Amino acid sequence: MNSRTPSGLPVTRYDHDRTALGSLLEGEPDYRIDQLWQGLYQDLADPEEITTLPSALRDRLVHDLPPGLTEEARSVGDEGETVKWLWRLTDGALVETVLMHYAERSTVCVSTQSGCAMGCGFCATGQMGFDRHLTTGEIVEQVVRAQREAGERRVSNVVFMGMGEPLANYDRTWGAVERIHGDLGLSARHLTISTVGLVPGIRRMADEQLPVNLAVSLHAADDELRDELVPINRRWPLSELAEACSHHIRSTGRRLSFEWALIHDTNDRPEDARRFADYARPLGAHINLIPLNPTPGWPTRGSSQQRVAAFADELRSHGANVTVRRTRGTEIDAACGQLRADRMDVPVEAPGRRQATTTLTD
Ligand code: SAH
Ligand code: SF4
Repeated sequence: MNSRTPSGLPVTRYDHDRTALGSLLEGEPDYRIDQLWQGLYQDLADPEEITTLPSALRDRLVHDLPPGLTEEARSVGDEGETVKWLWRLTDGALVETVLMHYAERSTVCVSTQSGCAMGCGFCATGQMGFDRHLTTGEIVEQVVRAQREAGERRVSNVVFMGMGEPLANYDRTWGAVERIHGDLGLSARHLTISTVGLVPGIRRMADEQLPVNLAVSLHAADDELRDELVPINRRWPLSELAEACSHHIRSTGRRLSFEWALIHDTNDRPEDARRFADYARPLGAHINLIPLNPTPGWPTRGSSQQRVAAFADELRSHGANVTVRRTRGTEIDAACGQLRADRMDVPVEAPGRRQATTTLTD
């Protein structure tokens, strides 16, 4: 039986930082802590593979440091350049991770919750509701497993854009940021947290020691439409969100980006672009446009390619800095919550959806 935290979450291999590893090795010489830490965080080895440790100790550690993730399914797309996993956690909860190789870098997209409570209607994860928070170790292990898969190609970037709302699981997510930076050695400026706009969480992030990038999923720049698309906007409307973003930029010096899923005739009209540009410009935000990925529980389709291009042009004509996301993992449904949805037997969508672009690029 695995141990659990007081909140009922499991304690798994990467839930142990160096201090916790020290307690686990009480009575052993100090250098064993370094050997174990090096094995887990530098060599990304399983305890049984850490041959610097005596075999009796390894046997005990195999038991005391159980992995948090078991591979339930894996799909590979883009000629091996995109790998997506569906993991089963120790209590049966399911989450996904996506590894994306580019010429100049490799990026892993991690989940922070199984499901999500934020209720954005167009999002496959949101449609499933909330299952549970992930622990710090379960988030960190996604990066470790992706790096093991990547081999020689070093994972340099992590985006917190998989399943769940990172800032609704703030402490564990931030614990993972610190572990990924301090123990796995990734630079803070290569870490990006994507949020639907939880204002107190953005303010907390701004005051942390490590300056990471902030991505805000905006989708609408007027409160009436945003209230509908992203229900949390009723709690923290656009004006408060802009203030929190501005605070984050001032205190971290990091770049802000806005995500905008283009939904046909809903948020892809010229007046939407104008409002969006007016909102983004004073913040100096970079804009990422994503054509909406079809999901089973949302009737409206994504914008056509022409509408996406016209929307991008309109934004640029108002002085905005825009990227239309590169398509990744289309044939393997590397999109928010999609693989899990398939395994969970939620109603299957139309075959045409495989034409859609993925949300999980950076
Ligand atoms: N909860 C966080 C991070 C996970 S969602 C957030 O909302 O930012 C990751 C990104 O996928 C978000 O920008 C989200 O708006 C987007 N997304 C969700 N469902 C989508 C869909 N069906 N099509 C396109 N993008 C989608
Ligand atoms: Fe949650 Fe993000 Fe999906 Fe909204 S878009 S339901 S916040 S995962």
